[in-house]
Amino acid sequence: MHQLNADLHCHSTVSDGTLTPEQLAQRARDNGVALWALTDHDETGGQHRAAAAARDAGVDYLSGVEISVSFAGQTIHIVGLGIDPDDAALQTGLADTRDGRARRARAMADSLAAVGITGALEGAQALAGNPGMVTRTHFARWMVSTGVCRDTHEVFRRYLVRGKPGYVPQQWATLHSAVGWIHGAGGIAVIAHPGRYKYNATEERALFEEFKHHGGRGVEVLTASHDAGDVARYSAIAKQHGLLASRGSDFHSPGESRVELGALPTLPAGLMPVWVELQSRIVRA
Ligand code: AMP
Ligand code: MN
Ligand code: MN
Ligand code: MN
Repeated sequence: MHQLNADLHCHSTVSDGTLTPEQLAQRARDNGVALWALTDHDETGGQHRAAAAARDAGVDYLSGVEISVSFAGQTIHIVGLGIDPDDAALQTGLADTRDGRARRARAMADSLAAVGITGALEGAQALAGNPGMVTRTHFARWMVSTGVCRDTHEVFRRYLVRGKPGYVPQQWATLHSAVGWIHGAGGIAVIAHPGRYKYNATEERALFEEFKHHGGRGVEVLTASHDAGDVARYSAIAKQHGLLASRGSDFHSPGESRVELGALPTLPAGLMPVWVELQSRIVRA
């Protein structure tokens, strides 16, 4: 159970991935994933497709979502696992969270136009599989396609982040709301890729304490953006706070993502895997 090849974080064309839920299910099977969750940003529109495709592919499935949250002046992500994707309050909350994206995309394009990069809105929209979900990733891919940058990582170093052209601040959901929606939909809330946030020690402690106070129960220990130091650090924090440990590649696209679907190492010993607590929510293949 502890050694299970679980991949509980990835993205499809429903958000900013380039593979469909069906293609991801096939890839999960081909890569030996035993338990899979699709966690599109702020959107559960791919969940029934993913569950059906996982069953056809012989892979156990957990429903999922990755919610954008504003906390202490930064954007963070909270993953919900084992949710009922059709829960009404979750749907309303996610629709509200997606609501500002079109306006923000226009402002991002205006900001890029001011440094001579024109046509970004149309470019990003054309790459988005879901018109309601134009993300920075779609802008980044368009900027690679036009030759502005060599790869999406370079785009995020030079553009689209705070202090750089194309960055537009956005008010996402509150931590309290996001954890509440996940809980209300029968799921477990997990702090996604904590090693990516630029918090000082006090802010990071506040994040974990408030998250737990609102009913959050898990943390991603293994994710593509964690190096060995991050894995050790968040393993220790998981134990200290009594949090369940999760494992997810955050796979978005072949050739773009650093870690392939299902290709992370196994969880360090001594951690309680989040899937142990989600047994009743698993859709068995
Ligand atoms: P958005 O929700 O529109 O702000 O877009 C966030 C998405 O941009 C994330 O989910 C990642 O897929 C992508 N992203 C953010 N930072 C980076 C980065 N440094 N390198 C590559 N992709 C990134
Ligand atoms: Mn993404
Ligand atoms: Mn994320
Ligand atoms: Mn993600």
